[in-house]
Amino acid sequence: MYDVIIIGGGPAGLNAAMLLGRSRRKVIVFDGGKPRNRWARRMNGFLTSDGAKPGEFIQKGREELVKYGVELKDLEVASATYSKGQFVVNDADGTVYHSRKLLLATGLKDILPEVEGLEAFYGKTVHHCPYCDGWESQDKAIAVYGKDRSGIGQALAMKNWSADVTLFTDGTDELQRNDLELLEANEVKVEKEKILRLEGEDGNLQHIVLQGGEKRAQQAMFFSEGTKQQSDLGEMLGCEFTSAGVIITRRLQQSNIPGLYVAGDAARDVQMVVVAAAEGAKAGVAINMELQQEDRKKVN
Ligand SMILES: Cc1cc2nc3c(=O)[nH]c(=O)nc-3n(C[C@H](O)[C@H](O)[C@H](O)COP(=O)(O)OP(=O)(O)OC[C@H]3O[C@@H](n4cnc5c(N)ncnc54)[C@H](O)[C@@H]3O)c2cc1C
Repeated sequence: MYDVIIIGGGPAGLNAAMLLGRSRRKVIVFDGGKPRNRWARRMNGFLTSDGAKPGEFIQKGREELVKYGVELKDLEVASATYSKGQFVVNDADGTVYHSRKLLLATGLKDILPEVEGLEAFYGKTVHHCPYCDGWESQDKAIAVYGKDRSGIGQALAMKNWSADVTLFTDGTDELQRNDLELLEANEVKVEKEKILRLEGEDGNLQHIVLQGGEKRAQQAMFFSEGTKQQSDLGEMLGCEFTSAGVIITRRLQQSNIPGLYVAGDAARDVQMVVVAAAEGAKAGVAINMELQQEDRKKVN
């Protein structure tokens, strides 16, 4: 019986493991090895680790856990249930584990625009988060991808980083007169023609090729097509979700299921590494306090 099983070994899961390991808890972390930012060259916006390589950051975190006796298992969890005050977890090899508390830190995955060639640039010069990659794209020719009216907000926001912003609606024509006036007033260009493919070299975007064959010189692209949970364990356990598909948690990452906590991108908040790590720390403290309460001897 583990005190805590943590599912997900990204920044949220690892930081929770650190706090729990340091609290002398018996902890195991399962990780499927697919952190959300694995496509990215660099990880920005984390004080002291700004510009770190994502894989090296995770590896350093894992090494820091060794001295606290945290077990790390590089394996997917296939199922998790809650019954009679304990969690039962099945790993992908069919081995069964039991714990008093469970932390889901399983993250999200991004829905990518369906544009030929995009994956080669994703995390290098095609991004979804201006706070992660806006600085590196400053003063470049920035394309914003958004069908219908979905890219308006992001196109206006990107003016913060560059004067040269174009909204590509990829063959859709839903922009209204007010939208066009607003975009024009803020000097955002609009391209409605369907995109054929992206072109460039070594992850560096150079052109957006339109269906008619015309090429638009662009050096970066931003999009916001939404996200999905990376695992269905939250649903399996009966968690409550927002309409955007993230798990609803209380102040210290508690879910609606007793003893089940959720931290990082899978839960509702700003989706960045530093926030995920902080939520992991909050969950670690809250879980340890709950265990302390349960184990404390009572006097009349
Ligand atoms: C291209 C890109 C670039 C980014 N750049 C930045 C940046 O510069 N700065 C920044 O702060 N943020 C950045 N982010 C956001 C950042 O990646 C996330 O906020 C952060 O990774 C969230 O951490 P997490 O621990 O919640 O989840 P993740 O890091 O996604 O980790 C979740 C882990 O859980 C594992 N897992 C899932 N399901 C299971 C299962 N069933 N069993 C076992 N393991 C499982 C996964 O394999 C994964 O390793 C970027 C995101 C993307 C997509």
